[in-house]
Amino acid sequence: MKKCYKCGLKGVVYLPQYRIAFCKEHYLEWYSRRVEETIKEFHMFTRESRVLVAVSGGKDSLSLWDVLYRLGYKADGLYIDLGIGEYSERSRIVCERFAQTRGLELHVLSLGEAIATIPEIKRLEKRPPCSFCGQLKRYYMNRFAKEKGYSILATGHNLDDESATLFSNLLAWNMDYLARQFPLLPEGKGFVRRVKPLFKLSEKENALYAFLGGIEYVEEECPFAEGASSIGYKKVLSQLEEESPGTKLRFYMDFLRRLHPLLKAQEVELRHCSICGEPTTGEVCSLCRLRERLSSKTLSSSPSS
Ligand code: SF4
Ligand code: ZN
Ligand code: ZN
Repeated sequence: MKKCYKCGLKGVVYLPQYRIAFCKEHYLEWYSRRVEETIKEFHMFTRESRVLVAVSGGKDSLSLWDVLYRLGYKADGLYIDLGIGEYSERSRIVCERFAQTRGLELHVLSLGEAIATIPEIKRLEKRPPCSFCGQLKRYYMNRFAKEKGYSILATGHNLDDESATLFSNLLAWNMDYLARQFPLLPEGKGFVRRVKPLFKLSEKENALYAFLGGIEYVEEECPFAEGASSIGYKKVLSQLEEESPGTKLRFYMDFLRRLHPLLKAQEVELRHCSICGEPTTGEVCSLCRLRERLSSKTLSSSPSS
């Protein structure tokens, strides 16, 4: 291992795409600076903003919450309990412990109470769980942030997530999704501002921050993650990264610099859902339609009907 780029002591971390090594202290400093620079570069929020961090119990979202707290931002957490058995229980406990030891506020929203747990919905829906799970999380995170007066919703999406999404959107030439793929989505039309301050940091870099920073996180994956198509895209990109370090970051940053400015999202007209009032393109939002399907399927499958 090379010597620390900053202080010359023995390095514990080597970052191949920058060809530099860091000791523990200077890696944590480098990581924090990288997050701070990203927040400023994209005008995500300031130290006066009320930020709600969506936490899952994993390394990315907890590293994000930790670094925002250390940098002096006003950031509270939101854990959405998806009701996925022991995985959700363990994740909630880890998030609660994280908040408690740092004196931070954590909100917990139970999906089972709000609509139904992911396994319950899975039994009735034909789609893969990740498709409705993502939709439900986005809906409740946004609604919760608005109700509690948070102006910013921050998520722990990392470079691996973002470059895999970019890759899949490019393969399908999904122009509308590409136009909306940006580290900051502005507020308005019923949405709070959504930001991804970790989008330049890889999964590995977040894991290193969590490990060296002594953050306890849930290592096990969600049991439904296996079938997700993003895993295949991540594998391909990681192979390219291995051969040529820095590929993922270049791929994503060049997209933002070169292609994104040429894309224009189709202006979709949004209105308020006639049932819940949240933004939607139709008369009734997809979540309320799901709720209706769930209640009719539950009723028709109950023994008394
Ligand atoms: Fe939800 Fe899929 Fe993530 Fe599991 S892997 S938490 S089902 S989006
Ligand atoms: Zn050092
Ligand atoms: Zn609705």
